[in-house]
Amino acid sequence: MTESIKYFSTNHKAPKVSFAEALIKGLAPDKGLFMPEEIPTIDPEKIEWFASMEYHQIAFNIFNAFFKKDIPESELFKMCKTAYDFDVPLENVYERKYIMRLDQGPTASFKDFAGRMMGRLMSHFLKTDNKKLVILTATSGDTGSAMANAFYGLENIKVVVLFPKDEVTMRQRKQMTSLGKNISVLAVDGKFDDCQAMVKEAFSDTDLEYLNLSSSNSINIGRLLPQIVYYFYAYSKLAQKGSNEGATFCIPSGNFGDMMGCVLAKKMGLPIKKILIATNSNDEFPTFLNTETYSKIEPSKNALSSAMNVGHPSNLARLVELYGGNMDETGKLHKKPDFDKLRSDIFTISVSDEETTQTITKAWNEHKLLLEPHGAVGWFCLEKYLSQKPSHADDLFVSLETAHPAKFPEQIQQLLKFDPKLPKSLVGLDNLDEKMTNISNSYTELKTYLKDNF
Ligand SMILES: *Cc1c(COP(=O)(O)O)cnc(C)c1O
Repeated sequence: MTESIKYFSTNHKAPKVSFAEALIKGLAPDKGLFMPEEIPTIDPEKIEWFASMEYHQIAFNIFNAFFKKDIPESELFKMCKTAYDFDVPLENVYERKYIMRLDQGPTASFKDFAGRMMGRLMSHFLKTDNKKLVILTATSGDTGSAMANAFYGLENIKVVVLFPKDEVTMRQRKQMTSLGKNISVLAVDGKFDDCQAMVKEAFSDTDLEYLNLSSSNSINIGRLLPQIVYYFYAYSKLAQKGSNEGATFCIPSGNFGDMMGCVLAKKMGLPIKKILIATNSNDEFPTFLNTETYSKIEPSKNALSSAMNVGHPSNLARLVELYGGNMDETGKLHKKPDFDKLRSDIFTISVSDEETTQTITKAWNEHKLLLEPHGAVGWFCLEKYLSQKPSHADDLFVSLETAHPAKFPEQIQQLLKFDPKLPKSLVGLDNLDEKMTNISNSYTELKTYLKDNF
């Protein structure tokens, strides 16, 4: 039996730690990102066997390869079963081109997949060590609701979400304020930046150390590993049996969590022919692969696919590390990765807003394929790749849809002239009771609230 897998920092100036420590800490002390020292492999027979399994069973097998020594199997299985109790539709578009809809979770975005598993993993390790923590997070809408839902009802964890009271939609607000239990919501009379500044101040306030404050930000390794699973799932369900054929995945990307999940799946032995990475007008990554020099986009550009408006993807350092290079947290490249290998594994383009809206219309008219802006960026990239590589026309393609179209009713209504049907998770939401506390834009008020309530 091997030892449990250790996690190192991409800045290489911090000691290696256990998975539990990497998960609870989030960021390494040298500001690098945690990466597994060893990447387990899954053999082809096992991947074929996944074809007859449900999503949560596949998830269990992937996680067990990472956590064999860290978490008892029965516990891990229970976490997978409760985290993944919703559908993961694979929709055939034409020939062997598919859309994987990752939008059936409680907040109708793919962030549910990562958040729900991370919450359960954290709760497990906290219980084992008899510790408690308070997750404090500022949100401009989507991340807060995904995290609040992900941590809802979990033991040893309390969540406090701050949101700018006039800057989120009614549905985004209700997804947080209708929960209750261990989720507290503060409506701040200020802007998103004010909320973020207050959260930062709380993290550095020694008077609040007793609360064991933590964040749930997107660079946590506990949010990355769950994003490996759906590539194995799609492949096992769609690939020709016994062929070991390579699939091509197309991923609309912002912070590159999803892309890293795919790259790790490939390292674990999943037969992947090509990874297509679609960005919106924030094109720092396509430029990086073409020019071999990196510059962030500051401030990031406002595109329709708003969750992908990222001018410096926080997971990029992990990709560079896996391809033999080194990048620090500021985006400075200390050692070049193997660019030839990167370009042979990855095809990447930037997609404009005009191309995005045209794709929504065209996909509906030609295939009755309903896409929202993020998924449309991905689908455009897939079509572009096919037009450049006609010899690949018969390959297996899976493009990711990362949010439910009903989350973007204005755009769908304007382009397609109808209202998308609400997913189960959003039905009835409008009528739920809300619970929240109003506070002014003042750190002292936040601090008093925290001290009085926790
Ligand atoms: C967060 C998000 C993305 C970007 O995903 P990354 O893993 O950060 O690249 C894409 N689409 C939607 C709807 C999102 O919420």
